[in-house]
Amino acid sequence: MTIRIADRWFERKAVDEEITLLWEPMVDPLLRCNIWHVRGRDRDLLVDTGLGICSLREAARDLLQKNVIAFATHSHMDHMGGMHEFNIRIGHPKEQHAMMDPVVFGSMSARDYDPSFMQYMADIGYPLKEELVTAYPYEGYDPSSYTVQPAAPTWLVEEGDVVDLGNRAFEVLHLPGHSPGSIGLWEKSTGILFSGDAVYDGPLLDGLEDSSIADYLQTMERLKSLPVRVVHAGHDPSFGRRRLREIAESYLQSRSG
Ligand SMILES: [Zn+2]
Repeated sequence: MTIRIADRWFERKAVDEEITLLWEPMVDPLLRCNIWHVRGRDRDLLVDTGLGICSLREAARDLLQKNVIAFATHSHMDHMGGMHEFNIRIGHPKEQHAMMDPVVFGSMSARDYDPSFMQYMADIGYPLKEELVTAYPYEGYDPSSYTVQPAAPTWLVEEGDVVDLGNRAFEVLHLPGHSPGSIGLWEKSTGILFSGDAVYDGPLLDGLEDSSIADYLQTMERLKSLPVRVVHAGHDPSFGRRRLREIAESYLQSRSG
């Protein structure tokens, strides 16, 4: 079987005048992370960076005209693959080590994953196909060659820290569970939450090596009462407050007691 070569690796869509969503359409939904670009007055914000298979910096060159703050919601490979392309990199102390020395679960070929990991994914609702890309970025691409470049955070943040773009400011929320240093960005004035993988509208992963169900329960309790208008998550389409409550409540029900 010959697999086609993608015309371009990233797709994008303007959410409003300042926020743009970018993603990697050729990548399996499991690993297809939402990359959010926010244009600020003094500096821009990039929430997550995709797998790093192709240069995000190059693909988004027209968007990235100012100083860019790259924010890693956590260190999983589908979120931090492109981090190394940016000079200002925010991460949580509990993900620092994994950003310096990335953990690669597997490649773009299912052969390279541990069978127990494959089984876990299938059980939770993400059956992995033989290859995790539907097109190659270039002729001769080897899906087994996937690696993640180290990208140590240059700015470690904790709960309550503020990422200021000049005309808008986002507060860091520590939302552990999916991973220990999962962080989100909350803009109270607009009710926008960038949530990473702490919450998205799909099967939630709380059984990874670095996950904690106890932490996840607390995070969901907290998210349930956050007065959001819209959640721009790490995967899947964005959603509003009512859906957030539903997701949080169904998680709490399924995992407590
Ligand atoms: Zn993740």
